Amino acid sequence: MSGTKIDGKAYAENLRHRVADAVKSLPSQPTLAVVLVGEDPASQVYVANKAKFTVETGMRSLEHKLPAQTDEDTLIRLVRTLNEDPEVDGILVQLPLPKGLNSDRVIAEIHPDKDVDGLTEASAGRLSLGKPGLRPCTPTGCVMLAKDQLGDLSGKHCVVLGRSILVGKPAALLFLEQNCTVTIAHSRTKDLPAVCREADILVPAVGRPQMVQSDWIKPGACVIDVGINRVDSLKNPGKTRLVGDVNYLPSKKIAGSITPVPGGVGPMTIACLLRNTVIAACMRRDWDVPSVLDF
Ligand code: NDP
Repeated sequence: MSGTKIDGKAYAENLRHRVADAVKSLPSQPTLAVVLVGEDPASQVYVANKAKFTVETGMRSLEHKLPAQTDEDTLIRLVRTLNEDPEVDGILVQLPLPKGLNSDRVIAEIHPDKDVDGLTEASAGRLSLGKPGLRPCTPTGCVMLAKDQLGDLSGKHCVVLGRSILVGKPAALLFLEQNCTVTIAHSRTKDLPAVCREADILVPAVGRPQMVQSDWIKPGACVIDVGINRVDSLKNPGKTRLVGDVNYLPSKKIAGSITPVPGGVGPMTIACLLRNTVIAACMRRDWDVPSVLDF
């Protein structure tokens, strides 16, 4: 017996189709503005993909590419202009920013109603207060995949491994919103394997390659591996490959369902960003959020 492989790529594709259907039903096209500072190759690829999928789902994509030497005031002025622009529904500043730019200061400038990454203090506050708002993308993707596997998550014990602002903390709050009993584990947690073995849903978001072993997993648990780690390839010397925070193959034999890396949580992030752009447009323009976006 082996657990189900959770196909995040297929789920994300289906979600993008749902976003496209939602867009068709709106009175006008939502617009996502993406700001890229500098020439980091990985960021360039992310931004290109975001623009491609934004257009593919029927929305408008605005790209603002600024040189690496851009000073903070110039960047903040751009964010403020986008805040004021009535045509712009979502603003995303691609992270990391080049050295010398304070990302906290820049992110803080994004209007919370356009904060499609869900990273501002206002968005974090709305999440923790249980108020409507834009939720962070990767953690939302985790909840979607878990619900797709398990249905109602009420009463399930969810252990989130990691407490970062970007992933761990919002993931814990989002699973709490689903009425899970939530444990947040981190680098000071005592007897991590025993804590993980309590989990009906285990969400490692640590950034340590294959740290979670199969005997940390409760038989039948749903494992949502957020980790993306680049390691040397054993098969192809000199090459690298991506692995998660979970030792996948042995863990799949124990888990009820498990996300692979790559192809699990990763593809969900952009799909959830597109969904957030539609939600942002609806909230700001007083339209009903199309039910096709429910999960
Ligand atoms: P951070 O480094 O910000 O946080 C890591 C967390 O893991 C911290 O809370 C830390 O605990 C905890 N931790 C580190 N080592 C251990 C350990 N040995 N035992 C227990 N806990 C530990 O990482 P992020 O949250 O930003 O990202 C986590 C992973 O998710 C990374 O691999 C990243 O690449 C991936 N990721 C994937 C995304 C996607 O799929 N699209 C998006 C974002 C991230 P403490 O707080 O105590 O130091």
